[in-house]
Amino acid sequence: MSEYIITTSKGKWEVIVGLEIHCQIISKSKIFSSASTEFGDDPNVNVSFVDAGMPGMLPTLNKECVRQAVKTGLGLNAKINKYSEFSRKNYFYADMPTDYQITQFRYPIVGEGEITVDLSDGSSKKIGIERMHIEQDAGKSIHDLNPTKSYIDLNRAGVGLMEIVTKPDFRSPEEAGAFLRKLRSIVRYLGTCDGNMDEGSMRCDVNVSVRPYGSTELRPRSEMKNVNSVKFVMQAIENEAKRHVEIYENGGKIEQETRQFDPTTGQSKLMRKKEFAHDYRYFPEPDLPPLVLSDEYIEGIKAEMIELPDAKKQRFITTMGLTPYDAAVLCENKEHAEFFEKAATGHDAKKVANWMMSDFFAMLNKKRLDIAQSPVSAENLGKLVELISKEVISGKIAKDVFEIMAQTGEDPEKIVEEKGLKQVTDTGAIEKIIDDVIASNPDNVSAYKNGKTNLAGWFVGQVIKLSQGKANPGIVNKLVREKLDK
Ligand code: MN
Repeated sequence: MSEYIITTSKGKWEVIVGLEIHCQIISKSKIFSSASTEFGDDPNVNVSFVDAGMPGMLPTLNKECVRQAVKTGLGLNAKINKYSEFSRKNYFYADMPTDYQITQFRYPIVGEGEITVDLSDGSSKKIGIERMHIEQDAGKSIHDLNPTKSYIDLNRAGVGLMEIVTKPDFRSPEEAGAFLRKLRSIVRYLGTCDGNMDEGSMRCDVNVSVRPYGSTELRPRSEMKNVNSVKFVMQAIENEAKRHVEIYENGGKIEQETRQFDPTTGQSKLMRKKEFAHDYRYFPEPDLPPLVLSDEYIEGIKAEMIELPDAKKQRFITTMGLTPYDAAVLCENKEHAEFFEKAATGHDAKKVANWMMSDFFAMLNKKRLDIAQSPVSAENLGKLVELISKEVISGKIAKDVFEIMAQTGEDPEKIVEEKGLKQVTDTGAIEKIIDDVIASNPDNVSAYKNGKTNLAGWFVGQVIKLSQGKANPGIVNKLVREKLDK
């Protein structure tokens, strides 16, 4: 376990963190209306009368959103509640025309669950999920287009959300970051949320408190709203925890409060204290009946579940011989894992993993390409590794071949054939080059014979250079020593 303790001259402190994450559900239409959920359209084009809060309009629950929520719940290893219901959460906000949000309060669709996170020291930790409920998103207020007016875009109003609430199980910024990456990976595998934090389709509220190291008390927490990247979440925890410690050590008190994180400074500022906390006056939504799911329905979705990152990672470790670290890196992204599996089939999986995690990803980064656009196909990467394994080419030549593959997309076998890059393993041909090198460097030969035996490496280098990298290094090494020791 990775321990994170804040140590000052006055004492040691432990950090307690819980997260609430809003994930926009992937569905063609909104959760209670048939308006489109398309992101980036012109303002207010995807707004039905329901989304605009027109009097007398009735919400209709979108089946697809329910299905996506159940899938996500199963992905969180959570209990699916066969009975759930909707409530009105009342509050005034300019971009919410109804003045209430339809959400789930007393009975959420998903109950307790658990996610395993992988930490940098190679350990893992289970993080508890308290619940997940579904609700509608609000619209967006835009304050930076006019000096005296605010604008409202209701395209987002009514888009389906899944709100995932964790238990206060995090003890470090790293654990929270690892959790968000794992959660994002799971919803992307499932296709239930695109996980794009920068576009706001995944938003994180961060609850932070501290306590003296070793104690079990729970002190008042502060909550930072809508932090929009993994890095900022980690930064927000670190800075907020330090702020609490400083206040306590100076004899002050922390009151429960809501704060806003500022990415430009890494600090947060006060939004409201507990005494101004909302009274949401929740009551059951009269326009929607309770949501009741049958066992057959839930079992049907279970049967369609795909292999998720943890299961894939385990399989890559046990059946393909990868290290836990390599397997975790390759499985974070479904497309990467699938590419790897295709490339590694029938070849040395460990070598394929090494190539992917070094030269291959570096190439994609440099060309700013997604793996789906890669000029090097999975089959061709597998073939390249095979050429190295069979000693048809050396690792050094393979790098040159890979360069050509990245430029042309060609089959490595064809490149090696056409450019005559096959490794020379014919000892006769290699011996001839060695003889030449020995004959033209008498000084180094006598130095070697007089005890400077590390010059053998220099001879090997010369021979490989003269063979244009094609001489098999193992054979050269053996023959050079034999000849020098004669
Ligand atoms: Mn919410």
